[in-house]
Amino acid sequence: MKTGKFILLFHLLLCMRLYAQLRPCATVLNNEQQAWLRQFQQTLTYPITGHSSFSKKYIPLTIHLVGSDKGTDFYNLSYLADNLCRLNKDFAATGFCFYIKDSIRYINNSKLYNTLPEEIDTVTQQLKDPGAVNIFFAGSSSAYGGIYIPELDVVYVINSFAKLNPTTCQHELGHFFGLPHTFNGWEYGVPPPEQQERADGSNCLTAGDGFCDTRADYLARGWYCTAWLTDSTGTAFTPDSSLFMNYADNTCKNRFSPAQMAAMQANLSQRAGLANQAFIETYPDKPVLIYPPPSDSSQTAERVTFSWKRSPGAFAWHLQVTRSNYWGVSEINTFIYDTFYISALREGDYLFDWRVKALSRNSFCGEFSEVSHFYAKNDISGHSEISPEKFGDMYPNPVKAREQIRIPHALGSEVIITDAWGRSIGVKKVTAEGFRIDQPGMYMVKVTSGNQRMVLKLIVVE
Ligand SMILES: [Zn+2]
Repeated sequence: MKTGKFILLFHLLLCMRLYAQLRPCATVLNNEQQAWLRQFQQTLTYPITGHSSFSKKYIPLTIHLVGSDKGTDFYNLSYLADNLCRLNKDFAATGFCFYIKDSIRYINNSKLYNTLPEEIDTVTQQLKDPGAVNIFFAGSSSAYGGIYIPELDVVYVINSFAKLNPTTCQHELGHFFGLPHTFNGWEYGVPPPEQQERADGSNCLTAGDGFCDTRADYLARGWYCTAWLTDSTGTAFTPDSSLFMNYADNTCKNRFSPAQMAAMQANLSQRAGLANQAFIETYPDKPVLIYPPPSDSSQTAERVTFSWKRSPGAFAWHLQVTRSNYWGVSEINTFIYDTFYISALREGDYLFDWRVKALSRNSFCGEFSEVSHFYAKNDISGHSEISPEKFGDMYPNPVKAREQIRIPHALGSEVIITDAWGRSIGVKKVTAEGFRIDQPGMYMVKVTSGNQRMVLKLIVVE
């Protein structure tokens, strides 16, 4: 009993410790960055003028989505599109326009997905694009929701902190361009009184974040939009929850202060070659869907071709297909860098809705096309089911994951592989070398040759 209680207490303490360590952000600017900022802040005169006329700067962005070793659990692309849309709106006053430099990068690495510090240190340098601002979206962390790492000059954002109207990217990019927290100095406890910014701002240049148009803030923990604090002189004040660089709830935040914006512009000008003034903004129209035509019932679930008209200025299209008319649960939710896409869909007799949004490099805020729908059935007409003897056996079966599977008498045929839930895993060609399946599980393998077809059950083990 005593031991049980002790273990319970131990677990409780461990949980509290972990909870205490989990911060919205774990960024600490290095000494060089802090020195640069202090020096820059001495040159500012308040009130800041000219912030309404910051020149527009085009900044390339490289997005890395980190998944598990098995290539699963990537950051949801619907959230990514929403996030990038809002990012440019929130940076518009600063004069910054971020644009996607290349297609989205995918990384299969479970250690990086879990943001293990030694893995981040080892692989980030090779993965990052030196000619862009790099944001890595990863799966989990016991320490933070986001971080800008000065030594690597990259941002990591945890997927769950980048859902539904998030401001984590705005905050971390603020750090990237040299901004400290509004509660600077309070990250690890109460600073000495002379380093506590007073409510009247009389020591704003030397205490707190060093900006004189951001109010005093002592809250190094999450808070909602209103809080009352008392400064070292006994004056009560409320910190400004509208600033991205605080820890207030997402719903309160919508701006950088003019001095913060001036600092980011100055920081960018120190980063030789990062801004690309040759970039041209485009805002593509909403796409027109071509195929499958509306209400089409001639589709077979094994192979559906989607196509839409090219919208001038688009560099990718966001394709969504759902069975439930709820886009949050999609059969397909992907970015396509062309105007067509071929995929198998869930087998059965289903009505599918689909829509497409054109994405330009600088704008993810476009409108989705009209929603169209079609029916997809299992393809059984015109095929005669035949016995396995005709194609010969599939072997080995059970087979180890990633080991070759051979169907010697079906060379050149196409196999369609579905998992135990009827979801398509892919279409593969039967070659002399065979084909492979990476994930353990039970599968149905359909071999089709001419108008003949055979369905075999395949077991894949670790
Ligand atoms: Zn931060």
